[in-house]
Amino acid sequence: MKETYERVLELRTLLERYNHEYYVLNASSVSDAEYDSLMQELIALENTHPEWLDPLSPSQRVGGTVVDSFEKVTHQRMMLSLANAYNYDDLIAFDERVKDWLKLPQSDRVTYVVELKIDGLAMSLVYDQGRLHYGATRGDGTIGENVTHNIKTIKSIPLNVTYQGPFEVRGEVFMSRSVFASLNTQREKAGEPLLANPRNAASGSIRQLDSAMTAQRQLDMFVYSLLPEGVMNVTTHEESLKTLKTLGFKVNPEYTVCHGIEAVWERIQSLANQRPSLAYDIDGIVIKVNTLADHDRLGYTAKTPRWAIAYKFPPDLVPTKLESVFFTVGRTGKVTPNAALTPVYVAGSMIARATLHNEDFLLQKDLHEGDEVFIRKAGDVIPEVVSVHREKRRPDAKKITMITACPVCQGPLTKIDAMHYCLNAQCPARQEEALIHFVSKDAMDIEGLGEKIVQDWVQRGWLTSVADFYTMHHHKETLLTLEGYAEKSVEGLLEAIEKSKQQSMERLLFGLGIADVGEKTAKQLARHFESMDALAAANQETLESLEDIGPKTARSLVEFFTDEHTHVLLETLKSYGVNMRYLGKKATDSTSYFFGKTVVITGTITAYSRQGLSQLLEEKGAKVVGSVSKKTDLVICGTDAGSKKKVAESLGVLLWDEAALLSQLAQEKV
Ligand code: NAD
Repeated sequence: MKETYERVLELRTLLERYNHEYYVLNASSVSDAEYDSLMQELIALENTHPEWLDPLSPSQRVGGTVVDSFEKVTHQRMMLSLANAYNYDDLIAFDERVKDWLKLPQSDRVTYVVELKIDGLAMSLVYDQGRLHYGATRGDGTIGENVTHNIKTIKSIPLNVTYQGPFEVRGEVFMSRSVFASLNTQREKAGEPLLANPRNAASGSIRQLDSAMTAQRQLDMFVYSLLPEGVMNVTTHEESLKTLKTLGFKVNPEYTVCHGIEAVWERIQSLANQRPSLAYDIDGIVIKVNTLADHDRLGYTAKTPRWAIAYKFPPDLVPTKLESVFFTVGRTGKVTPNAALTPVYVAGSMIARATLHNEDFLLQKDLHEGDEVFIRKAGDVIPEVVSVHREKRRPDAKKITMITACPVCQGPLTKIDAMHYCLNAQCPARQEEALIHFVSKDAMDIEGLGEKIVQDWVQRGWLTSVADFYTMHHHKETLLTLEGYAEKSVEGLLEAIEKSKQQSMERLLFGLGIADVGEKTAKQLARHFESMDALAAANQETLESLEDIGPKTARSLVEFFTDEHTHVLLETLKSYGVNMRYLGKKATDSTSYFFGKTVVITGTITAYSRQGLSQLLEEKGAKVVGSVSKKTDLVICGTDAGSKKKVAESLGVLLWDEAALLSQLAQEKV
């Protein structure tokens, strides 16, 4: 370790940059463990050289900043950070300090409350006269961002409470692992970049300008602090937690009261074992002195309270070797770099590969052949390469760069936004992916038919187009002789293929993999045109006149349906008996007010779930769409409606509140 003032300045610059990435951009380029070790190095240097101390050093300040797009809120009390402990000795030292400051004999046992350190973002909720007054992020500790409109989308936060006096509640807003996983699945399907981890996802979601977007993210909040200390006559931290629960807040049930630091250590061990099975990420355990009067006596440093400490788990980053980087081609032609790794065990499973997303990611990580890399599972699910051990790099190691030609058909790649594409429609890789997509769950949903079998059939030369699935019964005898195809599974597969002929039109349409036609668009088109022939006959203008169909999608549909190959394909599928009509529920009640209307739902509707209400209105003949335009007939605004309400007002579109909606539905006897 260099012990120079230059190193101090270097560390400060690095840590400021990482703070900005973490708190403002929600995208860290280093792991928390790496950040923590740089911070420890800085603190150690500043401690040994007090002449280098600077009140503006990252070691002396709470890390976050305030983004201009939000109204600023000055916190009534500073929102601080927590001092860290990394091992048993650090905890013992903390306990000794507490006793010293409280002038207690070292043989005494202090009572602590041990809580999970939820990995989300800190939030302050201010109440007065029994109502939520506002919610604000921590910001730089003194000034936060007013995010009340988004806070109200979190269902576990009470908006009204029985206590009438002013008080503040603090806690952690987070995204559960399952919500994070399904959000990323959706993003992957939509071709959007994946979010790195639940913390970043939560932080990004709470700082949306449109609260409808936040509502979709299904955030949650555990609260852990009731302020000012002593309000509502509580005298211990444990009583604060109980009072918060009584008031209707969600308090994490895992907290325990421990007498003495040894009991704290035991509890930490048991919580560490529970960590993988929790429904949300934690990045440590928080230990707090229980008696509130002692908090007063212990006080605060510029950055942290002296009566609490955060025990940080050893990093779950696992080193391994980057064997090679290989590139895969998706059905849309998107080319993705992937890391082939020396297999290692990470958080419960063996990892041998990780996505490297795109060229920007490759450049940012600065990967070289044979690098030692640190990997982890983001949100404990997706393996990701977090950083590189640069010191261990061979001096002659070659830098890894993005390829310029398709790894399969060798055609040139085209860069669109951050992604590279192989635009050759005949590329074998694209064709194989298109076949896999056709049989997938959200498309034709052919049970038992997955990637491996499709690849096998392609290699045997049986599949070149999606129509070939419907001739697979000709290969039944051969299939039965092949290893791995037991009779029952061959029968089952062929039956599932046959059954898929009856799928409704939207599944076929989505399965055909037309550019820009996702599941939702396919459904909308099928519902509108009701038959493939009618859709195929629609021109650009007709398509564009539909809500949510832009010129790009319309163009890609016209191109698809005017292509001779498509014509042949659809005729072949028809001749095999594949259904080409929409079989979904159609609106028959043309007397309904909603029949034929284009409707947008925004904000929180209490009587219905968003999905339930959409379905109900669609069954009544409405077209429920996501964004407001001149073509919208009606916008239904629940509470906390955001920008969509404003757009509707500016366009003069009819606006209803929930009461108006319920009254109309009542008239229609729902
Ligand atoms: P902290 O780790 O110092 O802890 C304070 C925070 O813990 C509080 O603000 C609160 O949000 C949270 N918390 C969760 N559960 C709690 C509970 N039960 N009681 C009290 N607080 C609870 O937080 P910090 O100052 O926001 O961040 C510092 C840490 O963030 C670093 O140690 C590092 O791990 C990470 N970080 C990483 C990067 C990066 O680039 N990877 C950058 C900046 C910060």
